[in-house]
Amino acid sequence: MEIKLVKGDITKISVDAIVNAANSSLMGGGGVDGAIHRAGGKIIHDECMKIVEKQGGCPTGEAVYTSAGNLPAKFVIHTVGPIWYGGKRNEEDLLKSCYINSLKLAENLNLKTISFPNISTGVYHFPKEKAAKIAIDSVKSFSSKNIETVYFVCFDEENYQIYLKMLS
Ligand code: ADP
Repeated sequence: MEIKLVKGDITKISVDAIVNAANSSLMGGGGVDGAIHRAGGKIIHDECMKIVEKQGGCPTGEAVYTSAGNLPAKFVIHTVGPIWYGGKRNEEDLLKSCYINSLKLAENLNLKTISFPNISTGVYHFPKEKAAKIAIDSVKSFSSKNIETVYFVCFDEENYQIYLKMLS
């Protein structure tokens, strides 16, 4: 698997699956979640509703998928990052699970390319350096038959600089 770093808006980059930093209600929100729902259109919300009806949302650390509507992708993988409470509530393992469970879904869907935002580093306040290390280590530890390229898409300059340093 090749890792590529991109700075910008995850809704603009063509891949097989865009990962969304969702919340457990799957009802959309601000940040990257809002951007994905806006750009993808109503079908994403409708399919999220069906998942909610079936299983009552998505627990932290787990992942579900919908189609991608108007986004340049086949699927959106919705994963729920942990809220940072200082590190005493298993946040690090939960963040790792977000990456691993998203990759497992992509692998099972026979996808070749997947893009990740910097999960939990916005309003969920996970420390950015710690989150980047977990993201990179999780991806590197994942052995895949199908996935060829993993994109880390950094929207803010601070995350971009952290990833640039850690990946070089
Ligand atoms: P969380 O609740 O998981 O913290 P946020 O959406 O608040 O989710 O933030 C997660 C990350 O997504 C932040 O680093 C933020 O800069 C980034 N982000 C916000 N909008 C976009 C976008 N359009 N594309 C990619 N990343 C984005």
